[in-house]
Amino acid sequence: APISVADIRKTFLDFFASKSHTVVASSPLVPGNDPTLMFTNSGMVQFKDVFLGTDKRSYVRAASVQACLRAGGKHNDLENVGYTARHHTFFEMLGNWSFGDYFKRESLKWAWELLTEVYKLPKERLLATVYAEDDEAYDIWTKEIGLPADRVIRIGDNKGARYKSDNFWMMADTGPCGPCSEIFYDHGDHIPGGPPGSPDEDGDRFIEIWNNVFMQFDMAEDGTVTPLPAPCVDTGMGLERLAAILQHVHSNYDIDIFDALIKAAAHETHTADLKNPSLKVIADHIRATAFLVSDGVLPSNEGRGYVQRRIIRRAIRHGYKLGQKTPFFHKLVPDLVTQMGDAYPSLAAQAVRIMDVLRVEEERFYETLEIGMQILDEALAGDVKVLPGDVAFKLHDTFGFPLDLSADVCRERGLTVNEAGFHAAMQAQKAKGRAAGKFKQDKALEYTGAGNEFVGYEHLTTTTEVV
Ligand code: ATP
Ligand code: MG
Ligand code: MG
Ligand code: MG
Repeated sequence: APISVADIRKTFLDFFASKSHTVVASSPLVPGNDPTLMFTNSGMVQFKDVFLGTDKRSYVRAASVQACLRAGGKHNDLENVGYTARHHTFFEMLGNWSFGDYFKRESLKWAWELLTEVYKLPKERLLATVYAEDDEAYDIWTKEIGLPADRVIRIGDNKGARYKSDNFWMMADTGPCGPCSEIFYDHGDHIPGGPPGSPDEDGDRFIEIWNNVFMQFDMAEDGTVTPLPAPCVDTGMGLERLAAILQHVHSNYDIDIFDALIKAAAHETHTADLKNPSLKVIADHIRATAFLVSDGVLPSNEGRGYVQRRIIRRAIRHGYKLGQKTPFFHKLVPDLVTQMGDAYPSLAAQAVRIMDVLRVEEERFYETLEIGMQILDEALAGDVKVLPGDVAFKLHDTFGFPLDLSADVCRERGLTVNEAGFHAAMQAQKAKGRAAGKFKQDKALEYTGAGNEFVGYEHLTTTTEVV
């Protein structure tokens, strides 16, 4: 049998422990040290202050398996779920770090050793990218490791298109950053997609598995960079992507954990076709939402809680699309605990509470989902290409359809939403509310502070990190 996810984790940590790394536990999805970041989106988040030099640890080398969420802020993969073979909202990142200790050479050589000698990936399937100007990393790959020059690709920093993939890694718009070198795996020419740096790099043939970031700078809000106190290494490898390779499948959604969750989702929604993309969305979202509850994020109308609500409701809507007319989503929690409870004991310990939270949210949304879907279907009937903003707003305001949920439905049908119209309708409603209840409004503002109103709806669908 192919190696299990549990063994892949252990092998990674054992390897870096053998290279004098201290194994550190995964930190919560809500960063404890950083109000500018919505969720822990990579393994380095718990070490941010160590890079900046304002925090010290008793070790200079660390390794971890970090639970990550990319569903808001600079790194947001919510819209990729169900569409690519390699993106989740919640995923696990294998990482190793040097805090002013080793640098590029050791980092790249150990990565290569682990992949090719321990996990035994075929060398001829691997490619590397380096930052365009990073001759040092280029030479390490070509001269010391011996990767053929035609499989080492120089990539720029994509300035002016900051949210596209590039080889200058940033945790967020500000903070620690630096040039990076990434390792890709070629899944074969039967899969569409080009190598990194080519026009069709977004395909799923060449899949990025491991990023080695050479942390050297602290980026300020105005874009100026200052050198960190000491150059550091920060790496991250997607556990599910590595598992796909080692379990001889192409898609992350075919690895052992997802296979079980997709079957469970098919069972609860009475779906025969295990390839239905809605099952992938549901399997992804049960992980994200259950781990969020277990880390204290409850559904609400603002901030992190609104991201949580949006993910839950998206999952429920996909169940509805499969014909499910009653709550089902919370029933997947025991299956998730079977798959991940050993690695994450607090998930297992809180299973009952997690189920309760999800069930309550489900029952609530099911009250308006059906009628909301009817309104949406009617609005999209005929040769409509764009969902009118006022309809999207009514669905949001009266039926609890977050904007991204309506957009998800539209996208499935090749349509779009008039988002400007949505925001205009929201503003108009607020203005009306103000005119009608000036006195009440004044009181409310006195109480909450004018700056605090409603951040969830408007800001969290944009790139704003502040909660
Ligand atoms: P991609 O270009 O495929 O979106 P990325 O460049 O955004 O990945 P990094 O920020 O470099 O990813 O994160 C380090 C590693 O974490 C990646 O090389 C990948 O293996 C993994 N990873 C990143 N995003 C996801 C995700 N949404 N789901 C699963 N694994 C991910
Ligand atoms: Mg990405
Ligand atoms: Mg990338
Ligand atoms: Mg990357």
